[in-house]
Amino acid sequence: MPTMKIPSKGASREEVLSAMTKIGGRDADWRGGRTWSLVYHADEETSAMLKDAYSMFFSENGLSPIAFPSLRRFENEVVAMTAHMLGGGESAAGTMTSGGSESILMAVKAARDWARERFPKVDRPEMLLPVTAHPAFFKAAHYFDVKPVLVPVDAGFRANVAAARAMLTGRTVLTVGSAPAYPHGVIDPIEDLAAIAKARGIWMHVDACLGGFMLPWVRRLGHPIPPFDLSVDGVCSISADIHKYGFSAKGASTIIYRDAGLRRHQFFAWADWPGGLYGSPSMTGTRPGGAIAAAWAALMHFGEEGYLEIARGVMDTTRRLLDGIGEIPGLRILGEPAMSVFAFDSDRANIYTIGEVMAGRGWHMDRQHMPASLHLMVTPAHAAIVEPFLADLRAAAAQAEGTGASETTGMAAIYGMVGALPDRGAAVPMILDFLDQTYALEE
Ligand SMILES: *Cc1c(COP(=O)(O)O)cnc(C)c1O
Repeated sequence: MPTMKIPSKGASREEVLSAMTKIGGRDADWRGGRTWSLVYHADEETSAMLKDAYSMFFSENGLSPIAFPSLRRFENEVVAMTAHMLGGGESAAGTMTSGGSESILMAVKAARDWARERFPKVDRPEMLLPVTAHPAFFKAAHYFDVKPVLVPVDAGFRANVAAARAMLTGRTVLTVGSAPAYPHGVIDPIEDLAAIAKARGIWMHVDACLGGFMLPWVRRLGHPIPPFDLSVDGVCSISADIHKYGFSAKGASTIIYRDAGLRRHQFFAWADWPGGLYGSPSMTGTRPGGAIAAAWAALMHFGEEGYLEIARGVMDTTRRLLDGIGEIPGLRILGEPAMSVFAFDSDRANIYTIGEVMAGRGWHMDRQHMPASLHLMVTPAHAAIVEPFLADLRAAAAQAEGTGASETTGMAAIYGMVGALPDRGAAVPMILDFLDQTYALEE
C-alpha cells in the first residue's frame, strides 16, 4: 500500500534542493573522516572536476558505441590504462561496469560460459571461494547457478592452498583469490592458486576491486606486494574498482581479461528482437555516460604521480594508525594487512563494546564477525584525525576492559552493526526481513 504519490504539481528547483539538503542532514559525516567505509574521496578540487566531467556526459548512454563514440573512447582507454597498470599484455581486453559486484558477476558468468564449451560434460559447475571472498561471488553463484565451494583461510586469513587443492573435483571450473580481501586486507596466495588453476586448465579470477588502484602504487613506494595481477601465469581475469581507490564517481569499475577470447564469454547478443539486433557487453542495458566519463577524467587528472602521492599519504596515515592501535593494551591487528584496509580485535575486552563506545564518540567503524573485529579502511580524509581517533580508542579500550572477549559469541555483525543471534541459521531470514523493512516508506 504505497502511501505516497508523485506530487500533482511540481516544486521549484530551490524547494527541491533545499528539501534534499534537509533530508541529507542525518547522513554519515564522511567529510570529517568519521566513517571508515563506503566513501572514497580524494579532495574537493578533484571532486568538482569529476562532477563537471560527469555532467558533460550526464545524458549520454554507453549502451550505444555508435551514437556516442566519445563514451566508447573513454571506456576503451580506461580499460587499456587499467590493464596496463595490472600487468595485462597487449592482448588484454575488458569492459567497464557499474561497480565491483557487476565486474565479479561478469567474471563468474564468463568463466561459466567458457567452461560450458571447454568442459561440456560438467553440468553442475563449482567454484572454489575463500570464505573471505566478497559476497558478490555468492551473489554470482546464486544468479548463475555455479556452486560455491568454501575454502578455509589460515591463521593469517589467507586462502588455504592445500585445502583448495583438496577441494578440486571434476566439476571445478573456477578458482578465486582476493588482492586484498575486504575483511582483513590481506592478499590471498595468488601465485599458488593460479598454479592450481593452470595445472587443472580451469579459470582463475583475482578480485582486486579494493586493491587494484592501490597496490601498484603501494608497491612502487617500496612496500612488499607479492605478484597478484595478470602478470601471474594462470590468472584469466581481474576486477578493479575505479570508484574505490581510483577515487572516481560511483558507478565505475573494470573487468579485465587476459585476452578478448575470454572476454567474449561475458557478452550478450540477441538477434530476434523486432527492435533490431541487440548486443550488450555487461549486465546493465543503459550505461551511465557520466560515470564512464568521470572515470576517464579521474585517471587523466591524477596520473601515476597523483595516485602515488595519494598512496603515500594514505599509507603514512595507515602506519600511524597501526602503530597507535598496536600500543593500546589488548588491541591486536588481525593478519598482515597489505595496504590501507585492516581489522583489529581485543584480548582484554569485548571488541563490540569498544565499537559502541567509539560510536558514542562519533566514530563509525564497521563491526565484523567470525572472528569479531572492527574494520578500518583508510582514505585521505583520515590524515587529519589520527590523533583524536587514537585518543578516543585508547579511552574506549580502557572503559571496555573486563567486558570479556567471549561475549562476542552469539553476536552477528549486520551492515556494520551488531545484533544478538541465537543461531546462524536464523541470520538469512533476519537479513531478508531487514531488507523488507528497509525498502519500505518510513512511518
Ligand atoms: C567493494 C568490493 C567489492 C564489490 O564492489 P561494489 O562496488 O561494492 O559492488 C568486491 N570485492 C572487494 C574486495 C571489495 O572491496
